Amino acid sequence: MPVRSKNNFLIFGSPRIEQDEIDEVVASMEAGWLGTGPKVAKFESDFATYLGSGHAAACNSCTAALHLGLVALGLKPGDEVITTPLTFCASVNAIIHAGCTPVLADVDPVSMNIDPESIRAKITKRTKAILPVHFAGRACDMDAIMSIATEHDLKVVEDCAHAIETTYKGQHVGTFGNFGCFSFYVTKNVCTGEGGMVMANSEEDIKHVKILGLHGMSADAWKRFSDDGYKHYQVVEAGFKYNMMDIQAAIGIHQLKRVEEYHVRRRHVWDMYMDAFKALPIGLPAPEEPDTRHALHLFTILIDPDSCGVERDEFLIRMTHENIGVGVHYLSIPEQPYYRERFGWTLEDTPHAVRLGRQTVSLPLSAKLTDQDVLDVIQAVKKSLAIS
Ligand SMILES: *Cc1c(COP(=O)(O)O)cnc(C)c1O
Repeated sequence: MPVRSKNNFLIFGSPRIEQDEIDEVVASMEAGWLGTGPKVAKFESDFATYLGSGHAAACNSCTAALHLGLVALGLKPGDEVITTPLTFCASVNAIIHAGCTPVLADVDPVSMNIDPESIRAKITKRTKAILPVHFAGRACDMDAIMSIATEHDLKVVEDCAHAIETTYKGQHVGTFGNFGCFSFYVTKNVCTGEGGMVMANSEEDIKHVKILGLHGMSADAWKRFSDDGYKHYQVVEAGFKYNMMDIQAAIGIHQLKRVEEYHVRRRHVWDMYMDAFKALPIGLPAPEEPDTRHALHLFTILIDPDSCGVERDEFLIRMTHENIGVGVHYLSIPEQPYYRERFGWTLEDTPHAVRLGRQTVSLPLSAKLTDQDVLDVIQAVKKSLAIS
C-alpha cells in the first residue's frame, strides 16, 4: 500500500490560493480592465515597499525580467556573464538571448550558491557582469560578490526567483546589484500564475526597463511636443512584449499580503522535516548563514547512493509510487546537451554542481501543506530509503 492513494497524489509546489485572490480577479474581469493597469501599478509599489528599497517594474515572468535586466545593461556580443551551474535553464538562456556568452563558476558545496572564489577564477578581459542565483532562498555571499564587481567594474543582475523573503545583513536581496529579478510562477513563494518583477536601485534604469518591456514605446519622449490632449507614443528602441496583466497583479496583491504568514507556515514544515530526518543517512540543508534570512523556497535533501543504498533517480521513482510529488533543482547546466554542444562545457569544470545535481531531491514545501501531508512525505522518504 502506498503512503497516499493515487487520487490523493501530493502535487509538488501546489500554490495556496485564497478567496481574496479569487474575488480580486473576478472584480478585474467585471470592470473589464484585464491588461496592464492600476493593479499592476499597485503590485509594483507594494512589492517595492515590501523589499524596503528600489524601484519595481512588473513583467510576465522572471525569465523576461532577467532578459530585460541584461539587455538594459547595454552589453555587447561577446561580453561574458558569469553565473552558476546549479540553476534553472532560464538564467543561462537570458544571458544568451541578451547576446552575451554565459560562463559558469562552480558552487560552494555547502551553501550550493555560486562560490566567489570560483567567480574570480573565471574573470577574463571580456567579463562584464555576474548573475548570482540565491539558490533555494539562501542568500549568496553578497559582500564578496559586490566587492568582486567593484574591483573588476562588473554589473550585477541577481536572480531572486527563489528569494522574495531573503535578506543579507538586513537588506533584501535583489536590491544589491543593478537589477534584481523575481518570479511569481505557480510554485514560487508568491504566485500570480505567471509573472515576474525587475527591481532597480536607479529610477532611470527602471524607466528604461519599462520601455524595453513594452515594445520600446515611450510616452514621455513625445510629451514635450504636445499639449495636454492626445499623446502619441514614440518607439525609441526595439523592445519586447513582457508586460504583466492586471489579472495577474490581482492575484499578486493578495499573495504578497500573506508572504510572511506563508513563510511562518513553511518554517514549521521545514522544522518538521529537519527533526524527522536528522538521524537518516541523507544530506540536509545547511543552517542559515549568520545575519541572513532564508526564504525557505526549496527543501532539498541529498541522496548519496553510497550512504543511502539507493540511487537518486530510483528514490524519485519510489517517492512518486508513494504518490508524493518531488522535484529536482537542478540537474546542473552542463548536463544539458544544448549548452555542452554550444559552449563545450564538461562535467569536470564544475564538479560540485554536477554532484549536487545528481544527488538532490526537492520535497514539497508549499504553505498549503497540512501537518498530515508533511507526515506522509516523511513516511514516504523513510520507506523509499527502506528505513521504517
Ligand atoms: C523559476 C525560475 C526562473 C524563471 O522564472 P519564471 O517566472 O518561470 O520565468 C528563473 N530562475 C530560477 C532560479 C527559477 O527558479
